[in-house]
Amino acid sequence: MEKKELLYEGKAKRIYATDDENLYIAEFKDDLTAFDAQKKGSEAGKGALNCQISSLLFELLEENGIPTHYVKRLNENEMLIKRAEMIPIEVVVRNIATGSLTRRLGIPDGKVLPFSLVEFYYKNDELHDPIINDEHALILDLARSESELEELKRLGREINVILKSFFDKRELNLVDFKVEFGRDKDGNIILGDEISPDSCKFWDKKTGEKLDKDVFRQDLGNVKVAYEEVLRRILK
Ligand code: UDP
Repeated sequence: MEKKELLYEGKAKRIYATDDENLYIAEFKDDLTAFDAQKKGSEAGKGALNCQISSLLFELLEENGIPTHYVKRLNENEMLIKRAEMIPIEVVVRNIATGSLTRRLGIPDGKVLPFSLVEFYYKNDELHDPIINDEHALILDLARSESELEELKRLGREINVILKSFFDKRELNLVDFKVEFGRDKDGNIILGDEISPDSCKFWDKKTGEKLDKDVFRQDLGNVKVAYEEVLRRILK
């Protein structure tokens, strides 16, 4: 597999073309950003950890019937993925209230939600990723139909069921997470992007310790140590 030109650079990954038009390479960076990229940092080895964690979680989801863009991990910080036309919606699934949900609606931090909550955010840096509803998504042409939006919600919930029970057994609460989807060459919706402590919130079940990007956001300690602990639990 030959790595070709850089197609896209985001805050945490670079996407490259390959000699196969249907395959891309995702390279995981060590950079960390928070609060709309106002806070910036870097942690050597963070990219490799997220590449490994994401690979293992994509494999878990594929085994459980979730279609993803994942093909295989190539090396420490590169993953081979299927080409997909990304849908600019961040699908957030929540089990426990924290972060923007508590700030927006006044729900107490740490409250276990009566059912898993799915939210859509418009992925747009200039607009600061505003929360949107189904009608906004259709008016903005982010999704092709109501049924495509229903598919995003269904997949988000299914991913949550699989990941929540997986992390439950590893003494971690999956508080919430963000996923992004794309359309493959046949128009099927597939899970894209990454699933890592950059995009999920994990709380240790016994101690409540945060083992995710909040360690960086809130200066709670060493990010790498936290992410290594998540990997260690996944490999348990
Ligand atoms: N999230 C993300 N990218 C974003 C915004 C949120 O990966 O641009 C994730 C975040 O890590 C958390 C979930 O989505 O797992 C919900 O985040 P929230 O809206 O509470 O924002 P926060 O208060 O964490 O900034």
